[in-house]
Amino acid sequence: MRSDSTLRVRFPSGQGYPVAFRPLGELAMVMREAGLRPGRVLIVSDRNVAELYGLTVDRVLQDDGWEPRLLALPPGETTKTPEHLQAIYSAALEWGIDRKTPIVALGGGVIGDLAGFAAATLLRGVPLVHVPTTLLAQVDSSIGGKTGINHPTGKNLVGAFYQPTLVLSDIRTLATLPEREWGSGAAEVVKHALIGDQRLFELLVESWPLFSTRDVATVQEVLQRACQVKIDIVGRDEREHGPRAFLNFGHTFGHALEQATEFKVLTHGEAVAIGMRAALYLSRRFNPKLDYMRTDQLVLRIPVPTIPADIALGEVIQAMRNDKKAESGRLRFVLIKRVGSPYVTDKIAAADVEAAWRHVLVS
Ligand code: ADP
Ligand code: ZN
Repeated sequence: MRSDSTLRVRFPSGQGYPVAFRPLGELAMVMREAGLRPGRVLIVSDRNVAELYGLTVDRVLQDDGWEPRLLALPPGETTKTPEHLQAIYSAALEWGIDRKTPIVALGGGVIGDLAGFAAATLLRGVPLVHVPTTLLAQVDSSIGGKTGINHPTGKNLVGAFYQPTLVLSDIRTLATLPEREWGSGAAEVVKHALIGDQRLFELLVESWPLFSTRDVATVQEVLQRACQVKIDIVGRDEREHGPRAFLNFGHTFGHALEQATEFKVLTHGEAVAIGMRAALYLSRRFNPKLDYMRTDQLVLRIPVPTIPADIALGEVIQAMRNDKKAESGRLRFVLIKRVGSPYVTDKIAAADVEAAWRHVLVS
C-alpha cells in the first residue's frame, strides 16, 4: 500500500469528495486539487491542536497565497454549544467572508462537528475542509457529513448533514494524541473491522502491538482500510436511511453506558468498546458460526477503565430506552452473523438484552 494515498467518497448522484492521507504540508495542494482557489480562509481549531499544528497549517496556506485566520476554541466536548458556534459566526462575518471562503476544521470530532455546522449554516453554506487530528475523527467523524452541536437535553441534537469539500488526514499528527484518545479511536477502528472487513480484522489481530504503539506503516494500512469501510457505507446512504445503521454496532449499549455514567467515566470509544462486547454476546446467541472467541478477544484489547460497580442494570436498560435512535418503541440492535456481515434486528427479548448487560458489567 502506498504511504500517502487518497480514497474517495462517492454518492449515487455522482457527487463525492476525496479523503486524502497526506501530510499537513500538502494541504494547500490538496485544496487546489479539490477546486478551491486562494482567498480568505478561516481555520477553526481548539487550543491544544492550534498550539501543535496551527502554525504549520497557517504557513502552508499563506505560502500558497491564502489569507488565513485562526480561531482557537477551548478543547473538549463542552465546546459544542451555541455560544462557540456564535463565536465562529462572528469571527467569519465580522471579517467579511463570502460564499467561497472555506472553513478548515483542524482538530478532533468536537471541532469537526462544530466548525462543520458553522460551515453548513454560514451564508447558507461555505466550503468545509476537514483536517482531523484524532484517531476517532480520522476514521469516523470526519467522513459522512454529520455536523452539529449539543443541547442540554442530549448530545448532537442540533445539526445538519453537510458534506465537506475534502478531508485531509495526516496520520503523523496522531503521534501527539493522548493515550486515552487513541484507545477511544481504536474502538471505532475495531468496529469498522467487525462490521465491514475480515482482512482488517485479521490485520488487527496480528498487528495489534504495532498498531497500538502507533507504528506508522501499520497505522497507515489499518486506517485506510477502516476508512474504506465507512466510505462504502456512507456512499450508499448519505442521510442515514439504511446501511448507515450498521455503524451503530455496539452503540445502543454504548450510548446507554455513557448516559448512565453521565458522560464522566467513559469516553465515547470506551463505551462503544464495552457495547461491542455486549453486541458480540448477542450475536453469538443467534449466529453459531460467529468466531466469538477471536472477535471478543480483539475488543478486549481496547483499554477501558473499570465501570463503577454501583451501576444498576435497571439504569442502563432505562438509558437504552431513552436513546434517540429507539424507533417506534422497539430497541434496534446491530449484530453480526460473522465478521463483515452486519444486520439490524428489533426482535431481541428483554431477557437476552439483560443477559448481555450482565455479561459485560461483571466480566
Ligand atoms: P474526538 O475526536 O474523540 O471527538 P476531541 O475533539 O474532543 O475528541 O479531541 C480530544 C482531545 O484531544 C482534545 O483535548 C484535543 O485538544 C486533543 N487533540 C486532538 N488532536 C490532537 C493531537 N493530534 N495531538 C494532541 N492532542 C490532540
Ligand atoms: Zn461512535
